[in-house]
Amino acid sequence: MTGGDVAAAFRDPGGCGTMAETPGPVSRSVSLTPIRKQYLDIKRRYPHAIVFFRLGDFYETFDDDAEICARELEITLTSKPMGKNLRVPLAGIPYHAVETYLARLIQKGYKVAICEQMGDPAKAKGLVERKVVRVVTPGTVLEGNLLDQRSNNYLAALVTQGGRSGIAYADVSTGEFAATELPAAEAPAELARLAPAELLLPEGSEAPEPYRGPVTAVRPEWADPEEAQEELLRHFEAGSLEGIGIAGRPLAVAAAGVVLRYLAETQASVLGHVTRLASYTPSAFMTLDAHARRNLEIFATLRQGTAAGSLLGVLDGTKTAMGARLLRRWLGQPLLDVAAIRARHDAVAFCHESAVRRARLQGVLSKVPDLERLLSRVSSGVATPRDLVALRRGLEQVPALRAVLEEAEPGAVRDRLLAGLRPLPEVAELIAAAVEDEPAATFDQGGVIRAGFHAELDALRRVSRDARQYLSELERQERERTGIRSLKLGYNKVFGYYIEVSNANLSLVPADYQRRQTLVGAERFITPELKEYETQILNARERMGEIEEEIFRQVCGQVSAAGAQVLACAAAVAELDVYVALADAAARHGYVRPEVDGGDVLEIEDGRHPVVERMLPEGSFVPNDTRLSGREQIAVITGPNMAGKSTYLRQVALMVLMAQAGSFVPARAARIGVVDRIFTRVGAQDDLASGQSTFMVEMLETAHILHNATPRSLVILDEIGRGTSTYDGLAIAQAVVEYLHHREQGPKTLFATHYHELVALAEVLPRVRNYNVAVTEEGGRVVFLHKIVPGGADRSYGIHVAQLAGLPRPVVARAQELLAELERRGRGRGRRGEPAAQLSLFSAPPDLVRELASLEVDGMTPLEALTRLYELRERAKRELGE
Ligand code: ATP
Repeated sequence: MTGGDVAAAFRDPGGCGTMAETPGPVSRSVSLTPIRKQYLDIKRRYPHAIVFFRLGDFYETFDDDAEICARELEITLTSKPMGKNLRVPLAGIPYHAVETYLARLIQKGYKVAICEQMGDPAKAKGLVERKVVRVVTPGTVLEGNLLDQRSNNYLAALVTQGGRSGIAYADVSTGEFAATELPAAEAPAELARLAPAELLLPEGSEAPEPYRGPVTAVRPEWADPEEAQEELLRHFEAGSLEGIGIAGRPLAVAAAGVVLRYLAETQASVLGHVTRLASYTPSAFMTLDAHARRNLEIFATLRQGTAAGSLLGVLDGTKTAMGARLLRRWLGQPLLDVAAIRARHDAVAFCHESAVRRARLQGVLSKVPDLERLLSRVSSGVATPRDLVALRRGLEQVPALRAVLEEAEPGAVRDRLLAGLRPLPEVAELIAAAVEDEPAATFDQGGVIRAGFHAELDALRRVSRDARQYLSELERQERERTGIRSLKLGYNKVFGYYIEVSNANLSLVPADYQRRQTLVGAERFITPELKEYETQILNARERMGEIEEEIFRQVCGQVSAAGAQVLACAAAVAELDVYVALADAAARHGYVRPEVDGGDVLEIEDGRHPVVERMLPEGSFVPNDTRLSGREQIAVITGPNMAGKSTYLRQVALMVLMAQAGSFVPARAARIGVVDRIFTRVGAQDDLASGQSTFMVEMLETAHILHNATPRSLVILDEIGRGTSTYDGLAIAQAVVEYLHHREQGPKTLFATHYHELVALAEVLPRVRNYNVAVTEEGGRVVFLHKIVPGGADRSYGIHVAQLAGLPRPVVARAQELLAELERRGRGRGRRGEPAAQLSLFSAPPDLVRELASLEVDGMTPLEALTRLYELRERAKRELGE
């Protein structure tokens, strides 16, 4: 693959700069310096990236790029003459600080083209050649400080055609590369899982709702399946796609081709590290759409967006970055295969049964560095000597991990873990033999390669070490020969070695001394012998640097040749780390191993919310049971606000997710029939960014659930219909429950509502069960017991909650007065003091009810549904004579 025209790869709008003097009339009136011409030539090819133009020890930016950098990086904006009558804005950063500044620009969504000097400017005739060696974009970052260690940084591509989508993604910092093909409607959920740092889209296509991440438009021809296929075959040096495993999935091929082309054009150096393409099927995993991921607070809290307070926050006791990333992947992709889930539970149980074993494993794991990212740096040529040593030290921990496992009773799990953990002595030993334990950071000072590894290097080192002795000997000789006792031998960078004689002694200087430099009180000389020696020493130093660097590159080459084994070892370490972490969480928080099967029963005894229980004082969380099955399909949970309904709904979903991801669960016992999707419709959230009203969003989400839930799904509905008036809301809520119930085999559903009128549904719908959250009243105040008990709540406690929240006393008193009035008015028509409004629905004329029941909500757009609802309401009003 060739590193072609990167610039043309970027077609995104809002670029980073136009040149003041090109093209246009002005350009004729200025004559540009050669360097300006060179810069403009390069910039023209990267219009949408900020160009970091290397000038000596600085990366300079010019024109609009300079203004952006000055503003975003808070650095000084100056200007520089770059032609007759031309001064251009300039902002520069020192080359050694480039990572920090790069990080800030990338985080703000900019792309940066790094333009280096090719060759030594001192040796170049005329202008040194400059070339863009990398374009850094959010999805192609390698620098450690630009990456979150504990999560992946994905570059993804999406190609959609005729109702189907191909998605491919790569993490260049770990070498992971995978592709899939799926129905276009499922693409958003998969993108939500990946949360790519950058999404590549063929120019002209749009990101699917609700994706909001950064997008880069690329040339549409890249997504052509045939071109993409050629690209893949060339890259993997394969004869056919069967070998890569994505034959017959043209859109997966297209998306993978886009990723590969983009990498080739931005980061040709990392391509060598992309050695495998995994093909996968999202349908092999539990589907969690963007809403479910957010609402269940798996990786981040809804409010602060932090990992603390999320499920991950409770479970993530991993000791390595690789383990942390794997745990994230597992929680984001729970399994469906019963045997695979049980195998994970076996491994967690194995780590759970012995606290000593666990502690020892944790001790060793915490010494293992990020093998995946180190290897990636080694393979893409950006590793430092210290990276190699870190890699070696990581591999050296593997025997210790094996030793702990070997002490355990033999068994399937032990053997499986041991099989994955290969210590790769050949790699570790090679590094140990070649590289010092604490190598210098760069090659110009020497001290990277170990003594005894390379004969020529050792000889040169001897020469250089002997130099000191030789020079002091020479100094002594010269003093003797000239009789100048103050004669000194010295060295400086500009003039090299010299003999210094003070002015008072100049008359004694022999004829073979040649003058080099004149100081105030002395003169400096050189002799032919010293000159000869100088050349020898300087050559030796230069040669030593060269040899050290060469050996280092060779070792890197050999290590990356064993890359596949290193990655396999890293994968095994990651997996073990996750098992230990899950076992540790289970031990610390009292989780049990769930029984997972292919049946349709979901039964939890004394279940708890893994996150909420951690926030409450020890032991104060009230555990609750759950039972859902084909016969007990829908649980309607009523109860006052703040009673714990939302907590309960989420805890059930979280336990299912945890179990299928491989974790134990916070309960006394759990039996979980595998769930294919978890849907959540929770709370009222405005999606202001998309310009949709709260209620509209609620209805869209509800429609999505009703269309997509299968008999194996778990549906969590919290407060459906809250975003509209009571009548509408209640009507919709009831219609939704009926719909879920009437389906041939409806999904298991937990339905929390404050419309306690819905309790009546259990009387007519056989698979609906009522539960309520127990409360008692003490001295006129509500006390929440947080206990889910069978039966429906018969009244709402809204005003009590308002009182608890500290609404002014007169407001609470007035609300109580009004409620009493409403209840009194309703009593004429209602049962047990329910407001008249609810009653009207249950005692409405049969044809209206029938019509409501026959509504094909499923086939309606939200707008049609609303319109129908308004019609029905108007008719209901007429019937009531309102
Ligand atoms: P709303 O209808 O206002 O959303 P809710 O009924 O859904 O209320 P939650 O938000 O689930 O109530 O719970 C409110 C608070 O009650 C929680 O933040 C938690 O502190 C506490 N709580 C909930 N469940 C329990 C429990 N099982 N044991 C102890 N405390 C609980």
